Amino acid sequence: MDQAPFFWQPADRERAILAPYAMPGAQSLGREFPEAEHPYRGPFQRDRDRILHSASFRRLSGKMQVFTGDMGDYHRTRLTHTMEVASIARTIGRALGLNEDLIEALALMHDVGHPPFGHAGEDALDECLADEGGFSHNQFALTLVCQLEVRCQAYPGLNLTREVLAGQQYRAAKAGPAPLLEAQVVDAADSITYNAHDTDDAVMLGLVSLDELADLPLVANLLREIQDREGPLPELTRRKALVHALIDRQVEDLLLASWPRLAAADFRSADQPARAGFRLAPSPGIQQGKTELERFLYQRVYRHPRLIRVRQQAQRRLRELFAALRAEPARLPPEFAERVDSVGLPRAVGDYLASLTDRSCDQLYCQLFPIGWGDGPKGTGW
Ligand code: MG
Repeated sequence: MDQAPFFWQPADRERAILAPYAMPGAQSLGREFPEAEHPYRGPFQRDRDRILHSASFRRLSGKMQVFTGDMGDYHRTRLTHTMEVASIARTIGRALGLNEDLIEALALMHDVGHPPFGHAGEDALDECLADEGGFSHNQFALTLVCQLEVRCQAYPGLNLTREVLAGQQYRAAKAGPAPLLEAQVVDAADSITYNAHDTDDAVMLGLVSLDELADLPLVANLLREIQDREGPLPELTRRKALVHALIDRQVEDLLLASWPRLAAADFRSADQPARAGFRLAPSPGIQQGKTELERFLYQRVYRHPRLIRVRQQAQRRLRELFAALRAEPARLPPEFAERVDSVGLPRAVGDYLASLTDRSCDQLYCQLFPIGWGDGPKGTGW
């Protein structure tokens, strides 16, 4: 396509603002199915938009993060978690001179493979598919964007760039050479984000109190700083201030701990940090604080009796649905029934169940195991 001279070209913009170790879209290895360049959007910008406009992304609004919809409407869903990750990742990436378009594409994609009912759903599907290699939401994100999503007639999936797919492949494999710095930023932002917002949601829901959290040195230090700065605060604004401080402190620490190492390494291209095994990492002190906070959240929140009940019910439903659909594959929607020949019946059933929102999963359960209401999920299709 002829380039319109009055647009600021994506490659010119990248040359002006990216650090030498950032991944420029202009140097992308491209897509499996080659496509012409866009006149004013770079390749990673197009990937971000493809993910944003996908059915899988929209379904994040119907998938729980930690707390289910019937526990109220304050807490995060998988969608709002994703938007918070994208925002924090872009903040970190901008401060380090990295490619924000690539970061945003990776952040918006990072959780699209989550099945209904969060990690409870993932564990149930993993168990159902144990003989088939198990189930991982990171791997299923790749199945969605490479095979199941429908964007056009010319190819299956979204035909994303190799860099975006490689970032997600690294999340799925949890091994191999260090990923691009942009992918590392998304990974770091994910944990910063959920530490802060799970703390907020858990206190808001009354599962733990700020005083109990203050047993953790990281939280105690932040609450003391807030008190010194703002004086005694009502519980609500004290909680808000703590959440802001948790994010700020972790982001600032990651930048302060990483920037001198990046400057000293003097990388001249995006692949040099990967080849050198360079890892963005928090300082040892903050890493310890994060580990303690995560352990606290695991014991006191993720394993809280109110969540265990939700978890057990969701897992029972998914196991029963899996068995019922395996016994009666004619009930699979056509796009999943078509996959039985290529991926086998168990995987096709698992893929279908994983693609459902929490609500569609409940609707399907009520359809297959009638208890007097409901007539099946309304939400399938791409
Ligand atoms: Mg996440």
